[in-house]
Amino acid sequence: MYKGPTTILSENRKTNCSIDLPIAGHCRPTANCSRACYAKRGPQSWPLSSRKHVWTSQYLASQNITRLCHECHTRTAVRLSGSGDLLPAHIPNLIRLATACPHTIFWGMTRKVEIATAVNKPQLPNLRILVTVDATSPAKTWDYNGTLCYGPRHPADTVPNDPRILTVFPAHYIGRIQKGTLHHPKDCPAVWHRVKGCAACKRCYTWWKG
Ligand code: SF4
Repeated sequence: MYKGPTTILSENRKTNCSIDLPIAGHCRPTANCSRACYAKRGPQSWPLSSRKHVWTSQYLASQNITRLCHECHTRTAVRLSGSGDLLPAHIPNLIRLATACPHTIFWGMTRKVEIATAVNKPQLPNLRILVTVDATSPAKTWDYNGTLCYGPRHPADTVPNDPRILTVFPAHYIGRIQKGTLHHPKDCPAVWHRVKGCAACKRCYTWWKG
């Protein structure tokens, strides 16, 4: 029987730390997202990781997140949904977490417009979520009036010239970008190995500060 993780936060080289969630029952993927999903392969898909993702999702919907607050309050930035996606049931605790850890930035991406709309509040400047779109996103996703990221970007995709798009993620896996991909000015520099990770860039978690 799984007794829970040693730490709720997961560590990784790109974002430093993240709250990782399941794909099943959580993601609302587009066709391109589903094909490129990094969490379906490799360490994120291993049984122990999968059990931790399920546990973390249940924890994030629970009544008491004191332990997570302790883990987060000394961190500069915590990536939300490093794998999987957020649920509406997580929203109250995301707001509690950002309130309890005012010096930590909680940031991430979701495919769910309703999640981004619910958490991106002016009174909580340390909680910000981008909505992810790609070439196969439903038209209604583009109605979202907030900040977007675009990915996975395949070599044949044309990224719309849309000022809402902050960051573009070329399709990649295990550090390798798809063959034939040309650089786009909004591409994530970590994907191209131009920075070591998000701490050296910060674009996705400082955008609202102007
Ligand atoms: S653009 Fe910068 S902050 Fe955003 S994911 Fe890439 S490296 Fe991280």
